Amino acid sequence: MSDAAWQDLLETMAACRRCPGMTSVPGVARGAPDSRVMVVGQAPAKTTGSVYLPFGNPGGGKNLFLWLADIGWDEASFRRAAYFTAVVKCYPGPNPRGKGDRPPTPWEVANCRPFLAREQALLSPRILVPVGGLAVRELLGPRPLTEVVGRVFSQGAATLIPLPHPSGASLWNNDPAHRELRRRAVSALGETLGGLGLHPRSA
Ligand code: SF4
Repeated sequence: MSDAAWQDLLETMAACRRCPGMTSVPGVARGAPDSRVMVVGQAPAKTTGSVYLPFGNPGGGKNLFLWLADIGWDEASFRRAAYFTAVVKCYPGPNPRGKGDRPPTPWEVANCRPFLAREQALLSPRILVPVGGLAVRELLGPRPLTEVVGRVFSQGAATLIPLPHPSGASLWNNDPAHRELRRRAVSALGETLGGLGLHPRSA
């Protein structure tokens, strides 16, 4: 991949204002462009800093890194190894119907889809990790989380390992059977990372 193509993509995403209800978030796509691991979240959360840190919030972000700690990966090592992005690159705002953030609309997702496709094409990741129902739908089609979490898929040259959303607002994680599926998924991620020779810095 050329540095120019990568830089052009980052600048085009940062300048995009196609969705009127969205707030632009600098830094939603984070990580080295030569990463072999691509993590795809739903959308950036609200940020108070000048640059967004994906999964850096004390809720879902903290849970995600607790899950990874179970397979020996500390947050700093995983952030070095992975490229983080999201289905949509802008903050949708709070959910007017309850807890958490507003899910992006199908129109917003469709608007942003070419960016995700271009990231994937430029990065050619060996491990793809969609996190949460929306990201799973984008990469695997409309399938229930119970059917895909805990399983490993092949997508081109990539191994795709779906995870549930780690947000406390997600009720999916409350079911013990779902938590077992999630443990299997995280364990598969650890094995796949190790199979590529990727290990936490502390290991
Ligand atoms: S969500 Fe995507 S398509 Fe919509 S304004 Fe943001 S970058 Fe552009």
